[in-house]
Amino acid sequence: MHNLKITFGLSSPVILSRYTTIDSIILARYFNRLRNQGKIGNNFIKTEDYFDEISKFIFIKNNTISGSIWYVPKDASISPYNAMFVKTKDLNHMQKFTGNIQKDDGSGEYKLYRFGIEALDVKEIYFYIHGDKNIIEDLLKGIKAIGKKNSAGFGLVEKITIEEMDVDKSFIINGEASRPLPCEYWNLESDRIMFYRPYPPYYEKTGKVPCYMPPTSLTEYEPIENSRNYISLKDINYIYPTEFAYNSVKEVMPKPDYPAMTENRVCAACGKVHDKGVKLKDAFKHSSNNDYAFLSKGDFVCEYCDWSIKSDTQNYLGYLLITEKYHKHIQGKNMEGENDKEKQKTRAELLSNLDELTPPFYIGIKSSKNQQHVVFKSTVSISNALVPFQYGNDTYIIDVELFNRAIEELKRLINETGISKIFWINREIIDGPVFQLPAKDDTQKNRKLLNDFYLKYDRSIRVFLNRAVITEEEKKKKKSKKVKKA
Ligand SMILES: [Zn+2]
Repeated sequence: MHNLKITFGLSSPVILSRYTTIDSIILARYFNRLRNQGKIGNNFIKTEDYFDEISKFIFIKNNTISGSIWYVPKDASISPYNAMFVKTKDLNHMQKFTGNIQKDDGSGEYKLYRFGIEALDVKEIYFYIHGDKNIIEDLLKGIKAIGKKNSAGFGLVEKITIEEMDVDKSFIINGEASRPLPCEYWNLESDRIMFYRPYPPYYEKTGKVPCYMPPTSLTEYEPIENSRNYISLKDINYIYPTEFAYNSVKEVMPKPDYPAMTENRVCAACGKVHDKGVKLKDAFKHSSNNDYAFLSKGDFVCEYCDWSIKSDTQNYLGYLLITEKYHKHIQGKNMEGENDKEKQKTRAELLSNLDELTPPFYIGIKSSKNQQHVVFKSTVSISNALVPFQYGNDTYIIDVELFNRAIEELKRLINETGISKIFWINREIIDGPVFQLPAKDDTQKNRKLLNDFYLKYDRSIRVFLNRAVITEEEKKKKKSKKVKKA
């Protein structure tokens, strides 16, 4: 076994979750090979059951498979690249649960909708792993693309290089996790903790436990001065978001009594084994929802998840901060505040002080005014250093230490350069490469400043910086709008 650094040379922008690890890419290839050889079937594979086999070519330490998340070289030149997609529905999944296939693309669960994803335009990314060089090289051979939307030309791999290294960075870098590490088996001086699956497939809803998570900067983490005190819950059992939400808001939004099922079932929405609930097709009416892509296999929905998607409830749950002791609206008509400007200020203050919240807590806001179910797709936060923020259908993970620094840095950079906020945060409103800086600002120095900002602050941080930093420009705009109305 060797300490390895694996570098992917890319010829097109790549779409990767911040926490994608190299072991998941290698193991997907490995299980695919076993399947092609007829050694395993098409059923779901519990990676844990294959530890003996896997440990022959990937080092396993403290019940954790070696393999870091991806990093971008410190001196890399990078740029966000906005990609627009049209979301189509999973017809097989739908037919299974609704029993019918409509050819109508215009309504109900067949409605198509456009959504934006930020891809990263960068020449190379790299990972660390401790394992057998020859076997890993062989498994990676022939990879044409990595990440999402390969069929649309994203993440095309030009070249893979594997180097031997002196130090093992596949679990820890500078005292922080470089991959998800289950707190049960590891002891780090870090509060970057969230519920996560420690083994692939990482998208599965079951088996989530408190894990130390890597800092989210795109380059390898370098400790930064930080005087804040964070709180994290390292040995807590998984908290189901809909049940958590219910316990906090039940006085205002009570739930009816649900019939007990004859046997315990797994909820397709939250993954909890439960004895009370309804049939999936009674919960998710196929004429009015877009959520099939977010459900697991099964035909049962638990009482809490069903409650959370009922029309009244989901309206109430749409823009909430929920803690064990209180809940409050942070957007929308139920939010306290005299006017939009005041609400905007309150929201910016909340976001600038996420580390003052006491875990466990939940934050979720809808991204559209339509019926949108945010709670069952979310993750309850068990640390105020790493905050999953449910925004519409996506869970953004805010690295609070980096976020707090980014707020100060963005204010300073806007003042010093005069470059508008939109260039720093990149809102995904334009298809294609991020738009050009105005000619007067397009200097080597400014390009470097933007590049360094993108290297430090991933998309999650930049998305919420938009709400955390209110610029003078925006304040003026609000004023002039009011004058016009009057
Ligand atoms: Zn459920």
